[in-house]
Amino acid sequence: MLGGGQLGRMFVTAARTMGYRVIVLDPDTNSPAGSLANEHVCKAYDDNEALDYLAANCAVISTEFENIPATTLEYLAEQVPVHPSANALRVAQDRRLEKRFFRDCGLGTADFLEISEPADIEQAADFSFPGILKTATLGYDGKGQFVCESIHDLLPAFEQVKQVACVLEQKVELASEVSVVLARSQSGATNCFPLAQNTHSNGILDISIAPAEVTDELTAAALDAATIIADRLDYIGVLAVEFFITTDGQLLVNEMAPRPHNSGHYTLDACDTSQFEQQVRMICGLAAGSVEQHTPVVMWNLLGDSWPAQGEPAWDHLLSLPQAKLHLYGKLQARPGRKMGHVNCLGESPEQALALVQQVRESLKV
Ligand code: ADP
Ligand code: MG
Repeated sequence: MLGGGQLGRMFVTAARTMGYRVIVLDPDTNSPAGSLANEHVCKAYDDNEALDYLAANCAVISTEFENIPATTLEYLAEQVPVHPSANALRVAQDRRLEKRFFRDCGLGTADFLEISEPADIEQAADFSFPGILKTATLGYDGKGQFVCESIHDLLPAFEQVKQVACVLEQKVELASEVSVVLARSQSGATNCFPLAQNTHSNGILDISIAPAEVTDELTAAALDAATIIADRLDYIGVLAVEFFITTDGQLLVNEMAPRPHNSGHYTLDACDTSQFEQQVRMICGLAAGSVEQHTPVVMWNLLGDSWPAQGEPAWDHLLSLPQAKLHLYGKLQARPGRKMGHVNCLGESPEQALALVQQVRESLKV
């Protein structure tokens, strides 16, 4: 597993439950996945000696982090099966390639322009503001994004990001946001988990509700669009696709992640198979598990903001609730905005699950 974050940690748990041994590569000595793996290789992602070691000792290689250099996957793929491919990773790493690719698939996106140098700003004369200037690479959780109310805000924003390559995206009126997590097998069979509906706070995912409360038509359109994307990439593994639903009812593709996704954590407690077990099955060439959801659920992200200055949050109330499932990532330091864990709240209906999230939130207020 390339990458040692929480997604890798939950992958390691699923893989070891199924009897596999896992080696994690991550330069961080305290990585959440490294501490659960059979072995943690604490080296850089472009350390060829470390990569040779992985290739010699692993039957298959996957990733949990889209900013692994694509060249690392290419290098490994010469020696050992690597899923997903370097190409899928390369497209997902760069918002310019990603948006062009979605358009090539015939899918709608928010209008956008590519801004690579100050001269490109002139092209925005006819752009329909407000827009969001986003760095083409390395952004996550809303980082590297600047709202521009008019063309006059563009140069200051571009300077703010030190003139790295960007996309200027039209800021659309959101009715809601949804995401699809799917698994595509080595023979090209695709299974989508139920659509999740996502609410963000300060650019970071706050809650995911599954199943999403959107029309059957929009649900089908989102699952179809995600499947088209996976097919066009000849994708193997677990892929997540994020969508905007605009106030005038359009479905627009936002971005994709070549790995399990935060909005798929609900599958751990509400589906027959989790997205992490599905990732194990896909990369190991096993049959896909059932993606059936057995219980309505709302996932709430636990950020470092819920941690007191000293010690741990007061878990007692949460732990007394049989329908609230606590997952912690074993991170040593809590910081505001840092993902420390999540809670899956189950219910007889999404409304009931949401009420439980409210109760849990209240009990953890610092
Ligand atoms: P990240 O890689 O940080 O997740 P996103 O492009 O998904 O980047 O943006 C994070 C969040 O910001 C989105 O989930 C959405 O809530 C909001 N957002 C991003 N782009 C737009 C847009 N074009 N119009 C309206 N809201 C947006
Ligand atoms: Mg996003």
